[in-house]
Amino acid sequence: MLIRTNNLKKHFSLGKGQILHAVDGVSLEIAQNEILGLVGESGSGKSTFGKTLIGLHPRTGGQAYFDDIPLPANFSARDHLHYSQLMQMIFQDPYSSLNPRMTILDIIGEGLEIQGKLNKTDIKEQVSYWLRRVGLHSDHMSRYPHEFSGGQRQRIGIARSMIIAPKFVVCDEPISALDVSVQAQVVNLLEELKQTLGLTLLFIAHDLSMVRYVSDRMVVMYLGTLVESGPSDQVFYNPKHPYTQLLIESNPEPDPNIERQRKHKPITGEVTSPINIGPGCRFADRCPQAMEHCLTVTPNATQVAEQHSVSCHLYTD
Ligand code: SF4
Repeated sequence: MLIRTNNLKKHFSLGKGQILHAVDGVSLEIAQNEILGLVGESGSGKSTFGKTLIGLHPRTGGQAYFDDIPLPANFSARDHLHYSQLMQMIFQDPYSSLNPRMTILDIIGEGLEIQGKLNKTDIKEQVSYWLRRVGLHSDHMSRYPHEFSGGQRQRIGIARSMIIAPKFVVCDEPISALDVSVQAQVVNLLEELKQTLGLTLLFIAHDLSMVRYVSDRMVVMYLGTLVESGPSDQVFYNPKHPYTQLLIESNPEPDPNIERQRKHKPITGEVTSPINIGPGCRFADRCPQAMEHCLTVTPNATQVAEQHSVSCHLYTD
């Protein structure tokens, strides 16, 4: 496995003894050249997990491994420099993730500049190559971010990550800020880069149909924990956890003709507060199938099919 986490936790102290359990014991594996989709509603801890995994947040607990090498819980400046050559992140918002005062040459070439292995001419050549590789033009390198559309900016963000030749990339909602018309183009670009460069990706999103399309396997996160994992088609077409079932029912269908005929069931009820969480199933307050012991006993992961597991008492009793 290229990436492995064991009981990874990221908690934030809010003062006065209050602890926000953003990520609360996530164990997963990502094989070399695999795309793992990570889905869940806003606030489920998806982005925090991705950032903690690659060292952008210090880890509160658990372990994380890159190619079986333990990753530090708190990255030093030296760790950041070392691991940024192996692990990169593509950010959600292509508007705020690019420095408006830097040219595209400086933005994309910054990582190579920091590495200090190439001279300015070689860096310029690499930037030119990567601009063309992501579907832009070499002469774009003298321009500034505001001169580009959202889709073009996300391509610039992808070129900035790829120029380092990382082995693993966290794609944090890379298409959710883009027009529907360009979402598929960016997803296809990522898929093509994965195939040709042998990349391994964690693809974080809340659009389940897009995650099913792009990912080999999918994990579903709710309030900082994983509730279901399995091959993408299996989870999407045969979801077992009540939360996954509701997520899929509320997910818009890409075909407008089918979408018009669908009856959506919104997920109702208040989301349990992620502060000072107690025992029991975290989805119990919203679950239409909740039983009495769901309120007091935390469900463990149970295998329901090959490579398909669910954390729910419906499958443990
Ligand atoms: Fe619903 Fe209980 Fe399963 Fe939680 S454990 S999802 S409350 S049935």
